[in-house]
Amino acid sequence: MADYAEILSKHKFKFKKSLGQNFIYDDGLLDEIAVAGGADGACVVEIGAGAGSLSRAIAKRAKRLCAFEIDETLFPVLDETLGEFENVQLFSNNVLELGVETVDMLIGEPYIVIANLPYYITTPLISLFLKSELCGAVTCLVQKEVADRICATDGGDYGALSASVQAVADPQTVRVVKSWEFDPMPEVDSALIRLDRITGATLSDELDTFIKQCFAQKRKTLVNNLTAAGINKDVILRALSELGESATVRAEQLGTAKLVELEKLLKK
Ligand code: SAM
Repeated sequence: MADYAEILSKHKFKFKKSLGQNFIYDDGLLDEIAVAGGADGACVVEIGAGAGSLSRAIAKRAKRLCAFEIDETLFPVLDETLGEFENVQLFSNNVLELGVETVDMLIGEPYIVIANLPYYITTPLISLFLKSELCGAVTCLVQKEVADRICATDGGDYGALSASVQAVADPQTVRVVKSWEFDPMPEVDSALIRLDRITGATLSDELDTFIKQCFAQKRKTLVNNLTAAGINKDVILRALSELGESATVRAEQLGTAKLVELEKLLKK
């Protein structure tokens, strides 16, 4: 096992909280993440290589690893920890600024994502990869409460995030990862989740926006939220009646499948 703490200290690395830098060094846990994500023989994209600890666990198994890291002060560290792997490509771009089409073009083949995500951009990153034409699955560490919201099918945790993920993927929580398993230790526990894309399903910008509009004000009815977004009230009422739903239904009372159906009916 590489002594990551020692290598970081040798390169005088200073952790940046603003970049969500909470690293993992435990080889057992890192192997578990790589295996759960399906790294074996795959083309893998990792967001946030950090000191290269998860990258190494992936690179040992994958056909190809494309790792993104925006903190260039980590590059000398990564040279040391990943130098031996010929299947690793390192990118210094911010994936969110690149956009999904450019990321897909850079990778150029079907891929999966495996990452210990920087928490401050978890939701936009997941949404970006669910819009990709090439990404088949996303396995990532997220804050436990975000994992609960992503996997909820009803109740208080069910909302726009749950519906937009479940419209195009089957989410599952693989395991909880306690805060003390990271360095430095974050304030809350995390969970490893795996999102498997439903074959042929891609989160379009239109569907993503529509779902956000449905849940814009949770206590309002769906009709009120959608008319506030500029959709004609009679058209919404007709579509709801076609779905067998009442005019006073709220978004959280409709399952994801019905929200997807509703968007299709409103587009007709
Ligand atoms: N993979 C490493 C591990 O598990 O120990 C590091 C994970 S750490 C939670 C997240 C990493 O993402 C940090 O190294 C941070 O610098 C990097 N990062 C933050 N924002 C990023 C972005 N927009 N694009 C790529 N990497 C980013």
